Amino acid sequence: MNKLNGIHLAHNKGTKKCETIDFPLPKSVIIPMSQHMGAPCDSLVKKGDEVTVGQKIGDSGAFMSAPIHSSVSGKVTDVTDYLLPNGSVCKAVVIETDGQQTVCPDLRPPVINDRQSLIAAVRDCGLTGLGGAGFPTHVKLNYDPAKTPVDTLVINAAECEPYITSDYRELMENSNDIIEGILLVQKYMGIPMCKLCIENNKPDAIELMKEKTAEIGSIDIVTLPSEYPQGAEKVIVYSATGRIVAEGELPSHQGVMVMNVSTVSHIYRYSQDGIPLVKRRITFDGDAVSENKGNYFVPIGTRVSELLAHGKAEDAKKILYGGPMMGMCLYDTEQPVTKTTNAILAFRNGELPKTTACIRCGKCVRTCPFGLMPLMIEKAYNAKDVEELKKLKVMLCMNCGCCSYACPAHRPLAEINQLAKGLIPRK
Ligand code: SF4
Ligand code: SF4
Repeated sequence: MNKLNGIHLAHNKGTKKCETIDFPLPKSVIIPMSQHMGAPCDSLVKKGDEVTVGQKIGDSGAFMSAPIHSSVSGKVTDVTDYLLPNGSVCKAVVIETDGQQTVCPDLRPPVINDRQSLIAAVRDCGLTGLGGAGFPTHVKLNYDPAKTPVDTLVINAAECEPYITSDYRELMENSNDIIEGILLVQKYMGIPMCKLCIENNKPDAIELMKEKTAEIGSIDIVTLPSEYPQGAEKVIVYSATGRIVAEGELPSHQGVMVMNVSTVSHIYRYSQDGIPLVKRRITFDGDAVSENKGNYFVPIGTRVSELLAHGKAEDAKKILYGGPMMGMCLYDTEQPVTKTTNAILAFRNGELPKTTACIRCGKCVRTCPFGLMPLMIEKAYNAKDVEELKKLKVMLCMNCGCCSYACPAHRPLAEINQLAKGLIPRK
């Protein structure tokens, strides 16, 4: 097994045994027109329009984008400006639900019979990486096989962040969909080998998938050590194949395509029922949640306040989209669940530890999977020394947070790295 540096964290996967159930339909949803990397969508509906489940309500002509569909049936009550967690503004469609959940009558399973029709179907269903990064999946599939031939599909089921169990539940509840999705992608993308990677803290999922794929020679189940950040793209490519994705490269440059486990099973389900991405599984957990912790299928656009009320989380001081290492703090509980939300975590303690001076212990360097030097990056950032930041390869930083976690002086190293990356001019 190839291995990069990382850290051991308490798993806290208390919702592991919680089977996924439907979250109660909210009275209204707010669906942002940007839920993916790339160009935001334009709204295709206006105030007063009636919409149905799965109806396309947003799209863009840009290559790097993905259409957006209504998660509910009801009436559009507003198309408003919406402040995204990253500080930019996009439009959002507000829909009052009618409680009927009438499915759009135009929806049909797609006809998939070659590579291009698979890519078109994946775009039509609005799929973006369900692991949290939000990279449009059709863009990932649209590599040029003549320039960058891909021989290995790596399925990321590591789920290395504490608390989150949504991909684990996908493995346990939808193993057939995962396998069928992998075979579909392999067939039409011409990828001979698949490595389905699962951390060793999920032995029942490993056993189940080994049993289900025993007769399938093209799918290899890879057991990874449970060490954070095992699920980071470059890390999992190295762990599964020994190949190094260099600075500025995509995994396809190394003959690999990485796909999240829930993403690949959604491709299969869409190929069968033609229902686009309108709901997703999330883990709802954290010490401020007094009731109803678990895994839920939540309509996209459901406000986080609805979940907090369901969990009687009145004492929550810190609420995260995603896990405690790479998740993002909510600034407002009226923000919705989006395509990239794999967890909502609510905690009672919102205090940050007091920062002290660097003692040059080197722990931040030793824990970084890429051997970066966060203490030097901090110094270069403070001096606004762009050339030095380039030499220190700050753009390789994936914001995993290992350095911040390990730092005895509680320096906000990962956050500084993110700011430092903003100083480097983009090509
Ligand atoms: S946040 Fe960046 S610098 Fe820190 S450990 Fe992760 S990759 Fe390395
Ligand atoms: S871990 Fe913290 S204290 Fe140690 S060298 Fe890095 S920044 Fe300094």
